[in-house]
Amino acid sequence: MKIFNTLTRQKEEFIPMKPGEYRIYVCGPTVYNYIHVGNARPVCVFDTLRRYLEFLGNKVLYVSNITDIDDKIIKKANEEGTTYDVIARRYEAEYFADCRGLNVKPATVHPRATEHISQILQITQDLIDKGHAYVAPNGDVYFRTKTDPGYGKLSHQPLEELEAGARISVGELKEDPMDFAVWKASKPGEPAWDSPYGPGRPGWHIECSAMARTHLGDTIDLHCGGVDLVFPHHENEIAQSECANGCTFARYWMHNGFLNIDNRKMSKSLNNFFTVRDVAQQVGYEPIRFFLISGHYRTPLNYTKEVIESCQASLERLYTCRDNLDFAIQNASGQGNELQQKAVQAKEKFIAAMDDDLNTADAIAAVFEFAREINTLSASQTKESLCSAAETFDQLTDVLGILYNRKKDDIPQQVKDLVEERTKVRKEKNWARADAIRDELASLGYAVEDTPAGPKIVKK
Ligand code: AMP
Ligand code: ZN
Repeated sequence: MKIFNTLTRQKEEFIPMKPGEYRIYVCGPTVYNYIHVGNARPVCVFDTLRRYLEFLGNKVLYVSNITDIDDKIIKKANEEGTTYDVIARRYEAEYFADCRGLNVKPATVHPRATEHISQILQITQDLIDKGHAYVAPNGDVYFRTKTDPGYGKLSHQPLEELEAGARISVGELKEDPMDFAVWKASKPGEPAWDSPYGPGRPGWHIECSAMARTHLGDTIDLHCGGVDLVFPHHENEIAQSECANGCTFARYWMHNGFLNIDNRKMSKSLNNFFTVRDVAQQVGYEPIRFFLISGHYRTPLNYTKEVIESCQASLERLYTCRDNLDFAIQNASGQGNELQQKAVQAKEKFIAAMDDDLNTADAIAAVFEFAREINTLSASQTKESLCSAAETFDQLTDVLGILYNRKKDDIPQQVKDLVEERTKVRKEKNWARADAIRDELASLGYAVEDTPAGPKIVKK
């Protein structure tokens, strides 16, 4: 598989350090409110990448953090007259509820910043010991940016440009405007943890460096997030991790483009956002997921109500196709086997698209082409051909994480086998065995009704 690596600005073959095992870190949400549809884009895109790597037979160690201490969380807690942890736990739970709704697989680990204070303090001390960070007179700890010769390599900005943009805000005691906070001394009334530098709390960037190191090791295969995280967040993570660990931090970097609304980034600060929860209450979660993976992850996507409704209609077409396929399987009497071949071709096209920098747009097109072929051919196919089409259809839609609201057939195989045997013995006019099967089915809690389309299994 090839992916576009932000670090090299090239499409590169995505090869993990350890064959068959990918170590991936995705920056997660700051939990102070419901997530909006833009926040859900990296969640759905990188979940799809993970599913695809697993589909190819790899093991994926997938870590996605929860930023549960930060200025916005403290501000919200103060507004509500409560503590930061009440806010963080509430919106973390709401975030996980949205993830479940969007059919996002739980990460291998969802580490919380506040549960990694000792690891954060360890990496902070490593940086101080090596001269890459310093303690300011007020107890803040800053990263000494000019000690990192590689600084700017991810955002591809020359040092002079970065210097021109750097500022020292009121209250900051930096040696240099480019330096950034690793640890922040607490102000009166703020949540604080003890440290060798006095009571304080972690800066934002350091938590990801510490949690990636704790859960995935000094070097990871891939680091992901939205394109707005390239600078400064990811640039600073690289600086901290590489200076502390003395080795490459992330071998590949992937960044999703923005979800826009009227051609501006959907964001809380612009107040032009729709929460996932609100949209889901109107149309359900699944069209949101489908929409977020319907374009290539690096291109901007524009949110409108109409486009979400068209996603709903597209999903409906796939559900109908899949239901028709089930019906055709139950009543298969044709002789054709073209669908078996079409399934192989659909899978090849799907894989070619996904291998090309996770081109979910083309992968979805391959699924729709396959659906059209199923609709055209299913009445003429053998059961075997139909079953292989269903298997491929389910595999591909599962990689995309869609069609998860299908009512699953939960009839046990033993019951299905008995019903099949009953049909056979009835043809042979073996009524004694047919009656015995009926009794056996009843003891298992099932009945069988004979309809013109064939036997129907009913749960009693
Ligand atoms: P935040 O909680 O703001 O740190 O954002 C969490 C994740 O959502 C990060 O990976 C951001 O890059 C991403 N994100 C935020 N807004 C958008 C947007 N409008 N489009 C795409 N990704 C976004
Ligand atoms: Zn991060």
